[in-house]
Amino acid sequence: MKIGIFGGTFNPIHYGHLRVAEEVRESFSMDKIIFIPAGIPPLKRHNILSGMHRLKMTELAIRGNPFFEVSDIEVRSKKPSYTFNTLKYLKKLYQKDALFFIMGIDAFLELKFWYKYEELLKMIDFIVMSRPGFESLQVSEFIETKESDNCFRIKNSDKKALFISVSPFWTSSTQIRQMIQNGKSIRYLVPEEVRKYIEENKLYRE
Ligand code: ATP
Repeated sequence: MKIGIFGGTFNPIHYGHLRVAEEVRESFSMDKIIFIPAGIPPLKRHNILSGMHRLKMTELAIRGNPFFEVSDIEVRSKKPSYTFNTLKYLKKLYQKDALFFIMGIDAFLELKFWYKYEELLKMIDFIVMSRPGFESLQVSEFIETKESDNCFRIKNSDKKALFISVSPFWTSSTQIRQMIQNGKSIRYLVPEEVRKYIEENKLYRE
């Protein structure tokens, strides 16, 4: 099986996340994509909602897509969510499968701040998605050579970064949180079930 691992804070999950994941699944003929909301994200401690709420919203958002799954592995853990540890666990669990770590280019360009990033880059192939406002993959210090149009060799690693140009979504979780605080509608930026969940639980109001 070809499995995409899509980690994120998902604070909250929005249509940008969902649509780009769907485009990746289709383009790379993946059998499934596992969304993994971070429990305690080491780099985004600010204004972070409880893991259980973010997990629930992610579950509501992917409902109905047979190729999408959500894992609670990071939310269940009491320790900071390090992708390095999550991938170590998943690689054992899915020994026979081809795993890919999916991230937006904004996140890939920040990878040097991640726990054990040098080892992380040796662990798994990456699928790096375009995102409006961010530069191309070639500016990354981790990229060695271009193997083909969208395939880059990672420095000191036998793994690759596969670049995919996805539909541009300007939506971000930050924007959604700000809109809620300003009393603005977030309809059509997140799935309706997620919008209702946020409203019913009075999330992100302060
Ligand atoms: P925030 O605004 O709180 O920083 P975010 O919208 O970037 O949040 P995250 O949960 O941090 O959302 O993102 C998870 C992953 O999804 C990251 O790898 C990020 O690059 C990617 N991503 C999020 N939104 C988009 C988008 N519109 N296009 C492409 N990738 C995206």
